[in-house]
Amino acid sequence: MDDGGSVAVIESRRGDRDGRTWCYWETGDALLPEAVSKSWNRWEVRTTRGATVACDVDHPYRMVRAHDYRAAARRRLDGATSSLIVDGTLVVGTLERTGPPAVAWRAPHVVDARGPALAGPVPPGRVALYQRFVGRWIRTTRALFDDSTITLMDFPDVEPGQDVRFFYVLPVAPDLALVECTVFARSPAGDIPFRAEISAYLMRRWGLSSDEWTIEGEEAGCIPMTDAPPAVTASRCAALGMRAGIARSSTGYAFTRIQIAARAAATAIRVGDQPGAVRDRLRTRVLDAVFLRFLRDHPEAAPAVFLRMFDRVPGSLTVRFLTERSSLLDDLRLILALPKQVFLVAAVRTARERVGALAR
Ligand SMILES: Cc1cc2nc3c(=O)[nH]c(=O)nc-3n(C[C@H](O)[C@H](O)[C@H](O)COP(=O)(O)OP(=O)(O)OC[C@H]3O[C@@H](n4cnc5c(N)ncnc54)[C@H](O)[C@@H]3O)c2cc1C
Repeated sequence: MDDGGSVAVIESRRGDRDGRTWCYWETGDALLPEAVSKSWNRWEVRTTRGATVACDVDHPYRMVRAHDYRAAARRRLDGATSSLIVDGTLVVGTLERTGPPAVAWRAPHVVDARGPALAGPVPPGRVALYQRFVGRWIRTTRALFDDSTITLMDFPDVEPGQDVRFFYVLPVAPDLALVECTVFARSPAGDIPFRAEISAYLMRRWGLSSDEWTIEGEEAGCIPMTDAPPAVTASRCAALGMRAGIARSSTGYAFTRIQIAARAAATAIRVGDQPGAVRDRLRTRVLDAVFLRFLRDHPEAAPAVFLRMFDRVPGSLTVRFLTERSSLLDDLRLILALPKQVFLVAAVRTARERVGALAR
């Protein structure tokens, strides 16, 4: 660290096999902006009943590949004698004193950033969905992607009883795109035919038969989306990132939030404090909780609601909301753009269940 302290990063992964792709809206908070490999100013939301395009030239949507991020981090650390990255080492416990570990590390501060912990059942009055997805890097035999515009959400019609599902397309070249199928599932388990859905989507949207494309990579994930506070563990080390339940409950976005939290944790340690948990402001938490409940209870209405929101609200305002920078007036404009009844019901149910839980 700058103050003469040292940092060791202990990582179970060996080598550079992380094929993940992260995206975020530019807010000036990125720790390694040089790792960005593609940016877009325009995004579209599509349903079977219409589509809308929005843009915000001041806050582009940026893409970072995990291996570029890692390489950028290594370049920054090159020659820094106070920092050490230890690859291929599995941490089996943190500050636990039972049993002799293979190698013991001692440090005045330990930050646990081992990714999401297994979520238990949520308490009454809270909601949990799981953003489950598979993304495939698709190389086509003909140039057909419009690489000026991403598809943020392309909703097929939802069958009764189905969870919210949509396709997400990041076109990096006219013949190369990351095409993802995402489901806001009620359960983290159970088969979802993501790959077959992607193939069908390529045919439906671009008329691509299976001999016209190849797969250059694949990534998958399951991001908890919940308004339940993260479980408090007995561990004396601070949790960071997904381990601390940092993903935004209504969207699953976490990348920028993690970097802001990482910077805050470094500052806290530097001044001798223990890094603390990061919480959104109250009105963001309330709006997210109501939206999450709506997504769980009315998946069939989600396509029209997203389309209406992105259509009626200026792109810059949507981005302010999605990046936790919206003013009270912004939030009111957003609320006014949404259908009232269904959200009012979700708000009343959230309040009633939470008050009921307190009274128990
Ligand atoms: C495929 C995918 C795509 C995503 N895309 C986006 C996106 O576009 N935008 C966005 O905002 N969010 C996205 N997310 C959500 C979130 O931003 C990422 O999951 C992000 O990488 C979380 O960072 P993290 O540091 O908490 O965990 P991770 O990045 O998962 O890092 C945890 C690290 O800990 C290591 N580890 C785990 N256990 C041990 C152990 N026992 N010992 C030692 N090391 C260990 C792992 O190898 C890993 O390197 C995505 C998530 C996934 C899975």
